[in-house]
Amino acid sequence: MITEVQPGIFRIEIPLPQNPLKAVNSYVIHGKRPLIIDTGLEHEACREVLLNSLQELRVKIAQSDVLLTHMHTDHSGLVYELVQRGAQPYASREDAALFNMRRGGEDFFRNYLLKCGFSVNSAVGTMLRQPEFIRSREAVPFRLLAHGDLLVAGPYRLHCLKTPGHTPGHLCLYVEEKQVLFSGDHILQHISPNISLWEEDSNPLADYLRELRKLISLPVLLVLPGHRSLFSDCRSRIRKLIHNHEKRAEEVLKVMAGGEWLTVLDVAKQMSWRLSYASFSDFPLSQQLFAAGEALAHLRYLESLGKVARAEKGGVYRFQARNDFFENNQGMREELSPLRRINFKGSSSLKFISEQNRRTGTVVRTGFMGDG
Ligand SMILES: [Zn+2]
Repeated sequence: MITEVQPGIFRIEIPLPQNPLKAVNSYVIHGKRPLIIDTGLEHEACREVLLNSLQELRVKIAQSDVLLTHMHTDHSGLVYELVQRGAQPYASREDAALFNMRRGGEDFFRNYLLKCGFSVNSAVGTMLRQPEFIRSREAVPFRLLAHGDLLVAGPYRLHCLKTPGHTPGHLCLYVEEKQVLFSGDHILQHISPNISLWEEDSNPLADYLRELRKLISLPVLLVLPGHRSLFSDCRSRIRKLIHNHEKRAEEVLKVMAGGEWLTVLDVAKQMSWRLSYASFSDFPLSQQLFAAGEALAHLRYLESLGKVARAEKGGVYRFQARNDFFENNQGMREELSPLRRINFKGSSSLKFISEQNRRTGTVVRTGFMGDG
């Protein structure tokens, strides 16, 4: 289904077969050089809707730009196809690199599973052979976008806001004149975006919370998210997302209150998940992986706050709640207050954006020169 959500900005709802997210939003900005934001999965059902919609919107793919808010397959799956038809692809440096990661990704994945406490058995081997995990096609030659880059599409100027957390190089796009935010999967209305740790020594939950706090002062009238419906109250949604992760971190600490050393998988199994399976072991492996990734992101975050300790043996991580924390603990909520001590006043993200522009002087116009 195509909806015009702002003059010249169209939302295409692309169904995601057998996926709890149901659909992904792709956006098209009309102009001499149309801009397509996100694509849907590399799946026939998605391909059909995207290509038909582009045709209906009279978008010539060969004269278009395609920008990925991030590299997850539901957003990036058809980029290769659009590139083959002549579109110019754009993404952040970090997500472009992850998208193009091919062989060798297998070892990375195996180590990751081991680290989380999975037994790397034949089921995992089967999964590693799935097309989502091995890309045999050529790399996509992305033009790289950085925080503060300014894009021109049709009559609109879009500020690139690097918002790591959901992925290391996630991008939001902000149309200052209209106070419209393309939020990708950084801010969704009824879904808490999955924050998983994949990269050694990263702290994606800390990144995510920091970026949310930066965006809270941004004046936003309309959010155009990567999934589900558009919404307007961005600020209260951000507060809710921060609160949700705060609760999640508390939950992880409660799981660890017994004081034993636990693997990531041990912790994930004891966390609550909104999935309709009798037990954790009934989850499909892909969901177990998401769960482990989220548990690991929260554990790493708590580690960075000094709440838990980490040890590694034979490639497997184990975490333990820090005793001094529990001895002094007067209530976990207070202990977690660093998450809540947020001073939003006086931190204008807008100023931050324009300073960044001035400082870097990076203006990407060539690919995006539209009517204006
Ligand atoms: Zn998504």
